[in-house]
Amino acid sequence: MKYVLVTGGVVSGLGKGVTASSIGVLLKACGLRVTSIKIDPYLNTDAGTMSPFEHGEVFVLDDGGEVDLDLGNYERFLDVKLTRDNNITTGKIYQHVINRERRGDYLGKTVQVVPHITDAIQEWIERVAMIPVDGKDEPADVCIIELGGTIGDIESMPFIEALGQFSYRVGPGNFCLVHVSLVPVLKSVGEPKTKPTQHSVRGLRGLGLVPHILACRCEKPLEVNVKEKLSLFCHVPVANIITLHDVTNIWHIPLILREQKAHEAILKLLNLQGCTKEPLLAGWMDRAKLCDRLHEPVKIAIVGKYTGLPDSYLSILKALLHASVECRKKLVINWVPSSDLEETSAEETPDAYKTAWRCLKSADGILVPGGFGDRGVEGKILAAKYARVNKVPYLGICLGMQIAVIEYARSVMNLREANSTEFDPDTTTPVVVFMPEGSKTHMGGTMRLGSRRTYFDVADCKSAKLYGKASFVDERHRHRYEVNPEMITEFEEAGLAFVGKDETRRRMEIIELPTHPYFVGVQFHPEFKSRPGKPSAVFLGLIAASCGRLDLWLQAAGQPSNLRTHASINGFPKIHQNGSSLKKSSKSLLNGNFHSNGNGVHV
Ligand code: GLN
Repeated sequence: MKYVLVTGGVVSGLGKGVTASSIGVLLKACGLRVTSIKIDPYLNTDAGTMSPFEHGEVFVLDDGGEVDLDLGNYERFLDVKLTRDNNITTGKIYQHVINRERRGDYLGKTVQVVPHITDAIQEWIERVAMIPVDGKDEPADVCIIELGGTIGDIESMPFIEALGQFSYRVGPGNFCLVHVSLVPVLKSVGEPKTKPTQHSVRGLRGLGLVPHILACRCEKPLEVNVKEKLSLFCHVPVANIITLHDVTNIWHIPLILREQKAHEAILKLLNLQGCTKEPLLAGWMDRAKLCDRLHEPVKIAIVGKYTGLPDSYLSILKALLHASVECRKKLVINWVPSSDLEETSAEETPDAYKTAWRCLKSADGILVPGGFGDRGVEGKILAAKYARVNKVPYLGICLGMQIAVIEYARSVMNLREANSTEFDPDTTTPVVVFMPEGSKTHMGGTMRLGSRRTYFDVADCKSAKLYGKASFVDERHRHRYEVNPEMITEFEEAGLAFVGKDETRRRMEIIELPTHPYFVGVQFHPEFKSRPGKPSAVFLGLIAASCGRLDLWLQAAGQPSNLRTHASINGFPKIHQNGSSLKKSSKSLLNGNFHSNGNGVHV
């Protein structure tokens, strides 16, 4: 096993995760099999109990692991399936060591950070690196380890010490360190400044880690004299100084790494020269360029609670992007804070109320994502009602499906008190109820989590067709509540179709309104399995319906994928070759190709 460690310096938010994933893409294109580990030095056992406001979305894995959103980047970029153990936290390591101490594994010894915690970290890395993640039986060739946070953080010290020992143990030729740093340009001076990177490399060396490659985040490509200065002060060869300048979309990153021959530097350091092929990255190149050229908008309103922090909905944004690119449309997001749609907001914050409704009404499609707690729920219910009544394409995910069921009960079935017991435990009409297997006393890891099977009982429904006329589908879950199984017949008699169910046929997984152009709610989170070039079926349905082309897709459903591709190319406007109408974004590396509308939030 060869290891590539990626660390970050100077400031957080440099796009370390995207850089690490892109290095993985490049190595994969060289013919190597790649896995990854993300280290998060916080004390939480996992990301499951953290607020999306503070830490962005909680990503869910097949095995039910609730992990850092960077694992989503790895899964999407490398097209792999990771396990919960691929995300290491301080909480997990200490829990492991303390459990061993209680078992008596260290009997007679004083248990200390060095060597017990540092040994546990190294053992964990070596064990997890061997887990196959790409569907084959053997372990990968290269493991990319991303150390979260910034060099100098107190809480990452045990990890740095462990990684220093680890690099020494696995030895040169098996380990390489890529340090992602910032080279800012001060407006008043106008020249790139190398000092922050120099300091950060000094800090790294002082802690026992030697950088082999510098990946410098900067606005524009660095001139050779700046690279020479960095090389002199940081003791890294000029050929190993890579510039990661701002790009229009993140799919360019593997390409700019390849242009600067980052793979050659890494392969040399890992003694892998000669056993690999030239990385072609044709698919990445096409997608990155195609994405830049798209100009015809498809506007999707995301009605949620965390609309101020787009990272809270990262996988949803990516899934929408994958589907929009497939439909040759430029994704525009109308962010709608759900509480602004409510009647109380009309009185208290009339401007916000007006803006929210304007954003909702001007959208081609509406998406209500997952969520917890009752704040803004009534606003989401109003959004679902608006979509249902006005025949606007709608996709409700998890909570977004539950609120669509509540809305249907209240408006169509005249069950005025209908609610979820999550928001009103004493409701007289509980249409969404707590699942029997949930826990009300422990919050961490106690939901219905991970990959579960949904069976399609109605073969000619829209979602079954979008999933390629499959009889079942495996998607990831994260919920405590479900549609009340006792009320299904009542709902069905009122016209709401439950087209997908779990193996007991008592747990509802997919709802559809057959009389609506596209009104779909899913209890699972399809966004976690969407990939560039392989968009999630129900997201594709939403985008295709939002640009009036769903029928074409449904006709092509169930056909071999090359025919579907043909349908997609013919069904959507030709890609414009002269990118003149393209709005160039000078935003940071992390920017995707979505533009926000209405609330001025750029993603
Ligand atoms: N709060 C709801 C539940 O626990 C929905 C969860 C979600 O949207 N992820 O069932």
